[in-house]
Amino acid sequence: MTAPRTVSIFGATGSIGCSTLDLIGRDPDAYEVLALTAGCDVGKLAAAAIAHNARLAVVADERCYGDLKAALAGTGIEAAAGEGALVEAALMGADWTMAAIVGLAGLAPTLAAVKQGKTVALANKEALVAAGDVMMAAVQESGATLLPVDSEHNAIFQCLDGGAIDRVRKITLTASGGPFRTRTLEDMRAVTLDEALKHPNWSMGRKITIDSATMMNKGLEYIEAYHLFPVGLDRLAILVHPQSVIHSMVEFVDCSTLAQLGSPDMRIPIANTLAWPDRMATPCRPLDLAAIGRLDFEAPDEVRFPAIRLAREAIEAGGSAPAILNAANEIAVAAFLDGRIGFLDIAATVETVMDRSNAAPVRSLDDVRAADAAARAQALDIAGRLAEGLTV
Ligand code: NDP
Repeated sequence: MTAPRTVSIFGATGSIGCSTLDLIGRDPDAYEVLALTAGCDVGKLAAAAIAHNARLAVVADERCYGDLKAALAGTGIEAAAGEGALVEAALMGADWTMAAIVGLAGLAPTLAAVKQGKTVALANKEALVAAGDVMMAAVQESGATLLPVDSEHNAIFQCLDGGAIDRVRKITLTASGGPFRTRTLEDMRAVTLDEALKHPNWSMGRKITIDSATMMNKGLEYIEAYHLFPVGLDRLAILVHPQSVIHSMVEFVDCSTLAQLGSPDMRIPIANTLAWPDRMATPCRPLDLAAIGRLDFEAPDEVRFPAIRLAREAIEAGGSAPAILNAANEIAVAAFLDGRIGFLDIAATVETVMDRSNAAPVRSLDDVRAADAAARAQALDIAGRLAEGLTV
């Protein structure tokens, strides 16, 4: 019998975290869970830690430590709290780590996990967007295997199949277009939070669901693809495909195009990273193309969805520009989720912060943090003015 594989899940209480636990729970003898983490959802975290017999459970928010400790009393599962504890959990060096914290909060533990030189399944795209060069240098140095979880990047990873990147003519990221794909710009001014949270195809956490509605998600993915698949910006394209059946495509120099297809269920790409280089069975719905009937495609509209242009401008500017874009977006999305600003104010906030910031070179985590903090402060100010109906 082979020894179980050690796994840790950062963001275990979220949409990706729960899907990962669902897969692991189907074959418990194959895995030994080291650490599970959450922001502050103690009930869900403690239940998962007990169900999966984890060694350690960590909440990022120190105010939640007492509740976690109480919830785990008598179980033998260790409780910890704070950002330092998240990094220490990563230093346990699991064979396989799922990085699924939302936002830049995931950067330090993800980077720490990468530095262990094992396998890291990356869902936390904001970490790679903000700290791409730092993260990819750490992957090189540690010899870690970084496997993309995002359905688009996982699709590209599968299409490339380890082949030479210089044989690629074009990589096309597909995009559902979100809930407002067919709305006019005028209509989009007045959309509600509930409408924005209704993604047509995918069930996901709140932040990425709003990012999908503004199409900033595709912008972040464009930057993510730039780092994971270094073919150059002119070979990266975005195509709207409302059915979300084709998750992305790779065209090779011989004009042969490979695509990866599947039902919109994140357990499929997660399973790919969990079993890689093998494959594992999943409980997911097989694709029924006869029932789907047709696949549609259209070019993205950068007037109604400026986030795609902003992301391209950020990666072209380089240095700290993607970190600035990401920080401003995190603040603006949080303000929209809190009902403080309108839907179109999200991209307006990001664009204003980018216009007023100068991209600086990024060589370290501290450089990323400095750019992130300055951009957050600016975005808070701008979103605050928009919330009060003032000009920015
Ligand atoms: P969720 O909001 O569902 O879950 C986020 C997780 O992060 C939760 O466990 C949450 O804990 C934890 N968390 C929140 N804030 C902090 C913090 N400050 N410090 C530490 N942990 C924190 O998000 P998703 O699962 O949807 O997304 C996670 C990541 O995966 C994102 O980067 C997203 O872009 C990416 N992704 C998601 C996809 C999806 O289908 N959901 C698809 C592709 C990528 P708590 O529950 O306590 O708040």
